[in-house]
Amino acid sequence: MNAMIQTQQDLQDKLLRLDGRGYKAYKQIKGSYTFPDYTFIIDHVQGDPFAAPSRVRIQIPQSIASFPEQLYRSRSRRTALADFITRQFDRQAREKSRRRGTGNSGIISIDRPGQEVLERTSAFVNDQQVELRCFVGLPAQGRGISGHQAVEVLCEDLPVLVERTLKFHRLDRAAIQTIVETVEDADAIRAELQDRKLIAFVADGALLPRSSGIDSRPLSAEAVLFQSPAAFRVIFHRPNLGPIHGMGIPHGVTLIVGGGYHGKSTLLRAIERGVYNHIPGDGREFVITDPDAVKIRAEDGRRVVGVDISPFINNLPQKRSTTAFSTENASGSTSQAANIIEALEMKAKCLLIDEDTTATNFMIRDHRMQELIAKEREPITPFIDKVRQLYTDHGISTVLVIGGSGDYFETADTVIALENFRPQDVTERAREIARKYADERTREGGPSFGNIRHRIPLPHSLDPRRGSRGIRLKAPDAETIAFGSERIDLSSVEQIVEKSQVRAIAHAMAYAKSHYVNGHRTLLDIVELIMEDIQEKGLDRVASAPYGDLVRFRRFEWAAAVNRLRTLAIR
Ligand code: ADP
Ligand code: MG
Repeated sequence: MNAMIQTQQDLQDKLLRLDGRGYKAYKQIKGSYTFPDYTFIIDHVQGDPFAAPSRVRIQIPQSIASFPEQLYRSRSRRTALADFITRQFDRQAREKSRRRGTGNSGIISIDRPGQEVLERTSAFVNDQQVELRCFVGLPAQGRGISGHQAVEVLCEDLPVLVERTLKFHRLDRAAIQTIVETVEDADAIRAELQDRKLIAFVADGALLPRSSGIDSRPLSAEAVLFQSPAAFRVIFHRPNLGPIHGMGIPHGVTLIVGGGYHGKSTLLRAIERGVYNHIPGDGREFVITDPDAVKIRAEDGRRVVGVDISPFINNLPQKRSTTAFSTENASGSTSQAANIIEALEMKAKCLLIDEDTTATNFMIRDHRMQELIAKEREPITPFIDKVRQLYTDHGISTVLVIGGSGDYFETADTVIALENFRPQDVTERAREIARKYADERTREGGPSFGNIRHRIPLPHSLDPRRGSRGIRLKAPDAETIAFGSERIDLSSVEQIVEKSQVRAIAHAMAYAKSHYVNGHRTLLDIVELIMEDIQEKGLDRVASAPYGDLVRFRRFEWAAAVNRLRTLAIR
């Protein structure tokens, strides 16, 4: 027999021998073990009972797991099935595992998804096997190894969890079928949006409001379900669940207007999140948005490096360059301009803007203000003078929540009013009003939008090492990346939905540095190479080890992180 093959019994024996020894001795159990139904791999052993838990994997052959091929035959289905398995394991692990000693001793966990269904590294299903990656707090009493407890966790609890979550016959077939069909249908609608010249689709019956500002589960009581006005009603034919109707938001410039507290921001937020799929029961399963739609907001205080914001900003005091604008501390308006240009640099197809989070002087400059402050003394060309050019020159649509300025009526193709959470088509009325009260504004900013310039990052400026202490890539929370010695603040990057996306972005930044950043490639070239690699080889490609807590991200959010790195230098 090959001495390298270790069995469950070998693991048990080892753990019992380690009982009572110093915690560091756990390092010896790293490796692979053959259990009756599966292979158990210990990839990383934590350094002490309070450290991040140990990382383990379970590989169970399909001959035992028995998932029908139809549940994972398309990419959409595979993602949905892996998501289901992850949630199932999470639920069971919470129920089954318990603290057995110091720190995180005895706790079995998995990277828990939120309301979105995203490609993730917590589970994989293919013809050969199902792989699940989870975390285990190896048990300790004080700082000593609890060998008996470790046997219970790894050789008794974990096999029960495997039994309950990785064997098809134990699972709720109807629930699995629903999630794979829902996700596949949502992807099918998203793939069709472009051809049908739509930015987004909001299904009739969708439930948009969330239970609170910090809880993205659906609002349970009193929610008014979405109902499209007749003028915008469209039908999609879903491959699995049949026809569905709802509101199509067309390409072009769309305004969402209405009184305060009538649901404008809630609708826009649902559209922002519609770039991702949602779990059945979320209420937004069929709120589907163009995958290249980007939320834009003001973000004063952010760093900007070498961005050509000249379509919006010119003649800054002290003759500061606006074709390669840099600052350690952007203002509201310059940060919003940079956010737009950076999104365009990444080939955004649609901008999503909410007046609640914009710089007023960036959005609008009315007739009276134009009289008082001459154009020569105002660096900003307001968005109102650029929003149409963005569409006519570059084909980029905008969806804008704006309850406060009717000057925008002239720029709009579509105007949706929310009244008591119910959308109405007020496009014609808005046009009439625009004709009746001609606005006396002078158009600013010239006849075209201007060019979108691509930037080239310099290799030395993207360094994941922290001095001599080696590479450091962490996501302390869903809004921060620790990259080398730097902290990147992502709190204003609103389409990041999971901490594990942030972690994956951090890895992909280090991967970019080691593979593609060479002083000649543009940011766009680099991110496209990374996304191709991930598409073909999975998220593991960008990581240095088989992590179970990486989640798929978009090129926009990767670029947002790079753009906010305070060491970034541009050629
Ligand atoms: P606005 O941006 O128009 O001021 P919001 O979108 O912030 O309004 O919504 C105001 C409040 O109404 C929020 O608490 C939100 O959760 C709630 N809300 C939004 N849409 C609905 C709906 N369809 N049904 C019930 N409540 C809603
Ligand atoms: Mg609002």
